[in-house]
Amino acid sequence: NVESRLYQSNDKSPLQIFVRAKKKINDIYGEIEEYVHETTTFINALHTEAEIVDKAERELFESYVYKVAAIREVLQRDHMKVAFFGRTSNGKSSVINAMLREKILPSGIGHTTNCFCQVEGSNGGEAYLMTEGSEEKLNVVNIKQLANALCQEKLCESSLVRIFWPRERCSLLRDDVVFVDSPGVDVSANLDDWIDNHCLNADVFVLVLNAESTMTRAEKQFFHTVSQKLSKPNIFILNNRWDASANEPECQESELAKVKSQHTERCIDFLTKELKVSNEKEAAERVFFVSARETLQARIEEAKGNPPHMGAIAEGFQIRYFEFQDFERKFEECISQSAVKTKFQQHSSRGKSVSGDMKSMLDNIFERITIFRNLKQDQKNLLTERIQGTETQMMQVTREMKMKIHNMVEEVEEKVSKALNE
Ligand code: GDP
Repeated sequence: NVESRLYQSNDKSPLQIFVRAKKKINDIYGEIEEYVHETTTFINALHTEAEIVDKAERELFESYVYKVAAIREVLQRDHMKVAFFGRTSNGKSSVINAMLREKILPSGIGHTTNCFCQVEGSNGGEAYLMTEGSEEKLNVVNIKQLANALCQEKLCESSLVRIFWPRERCSLLRDDVVFVDSPGVDVSANLDDWIDNHCLNADVFVLVLNAESTMTRAEKQFFHTVSQKLSKPNIFILNNRWDASANEPECQESELAKVKSQHTERCIDFLTKELKVSNEKEAAERVFFVSARETLQARIEEAKGNPPHMGAIAEGFQIRYFEFQDFERKFEECISQSAVKTKFQQHSSRGKSVSGDMKSMLDNIFERITIFRNLKQDQKNLLTERIQGTETQMMQVTREMKMKIHNMVEEVEEKVSKALNE
């Protein structure tokens, strides 16, 4: 039931912009590939039959076959990528789990993520993980085993573990969203490597902060470097653990509102004035106050058929839960549009230029074929004329011969009857 609800809501999801665009561009490239194959066969035949095309042209056409195949492969693998950053224990893994509606990534004490973990959809209902540089699929039966596997592996902090989770278990995975969890920005000195290895193709970045404290220098520095390397990265800021603030015994509602507006102002300033990646209006739509742990608990309850508030941790659950959903909606819109632009725009102009090049080459060949055909026609006409001439001559000769023979026969007959009479 939950699954069918997921599927229903999914069809209205902004992620469908990407899903549909991906299908469309893949279909178009499928047609281009067919067209390139057909044309290559045709051109090779032209070469063997009449040598209308030369070797260089044939090679150029073959190169289109490889080019188109390579683009198709990239296109089929294209996905939307979101990367999560922030200090250790701010709740990065919990946010990912809440979005996936299931506890997939290990979180909590002793399970700090000490390398990059990527969660992506797998086909055929299989759950497994793969470490960098190995083709081996390590089966994952449950979260405990996954946590152990991650701890046991001697992994360098900037290496990547890929967790493949059945697509049908989560609509985001089904729609090709890939999640990347990172080690805390406080534990690494290799931020540059991180960015080069894991961030350059990310469509959206989520900075997970602890709402109980202020943004640290390490967190800020990381995003400064990101925005130097990428032009206008899409950054969302989640002030997580907002439930904890509500849980403070001496915390008045007015006090809470004050803290919230201070945090909001700081976050907006960071995005607009410091990083200069958003304008005020956009930045205001990129800052949220949530509780990842609570959202995950609520969703686990929902999956069991219970009302979501059974997962509540503190007063004000409903508002925090709505805010998390609001974040997801804005995130989906942003990632889908950004990914379509960055992933497909280049391929569609590439496709246009390849088909344009092929068309002008074919026009050129067609012209040559027309000239060749006219030449043949002329030759044919000449030949036909000659043949016709010969035919008339032949008929004339035949007629004369017939006449002669006829006369000869008559003459012989006459002679014979004359002789007989005599
Ligand atoms: P990470 O190191 O940033 O990935 O953080 P984790 O997701 O592992 O979270 C660290 C600890 O904080 C875990 O015990 C979580 O259950 C807890 N936690 C995460 N998010 C929240 C939240 O919103 N509220 C509360 N109360 N605890 C949270």
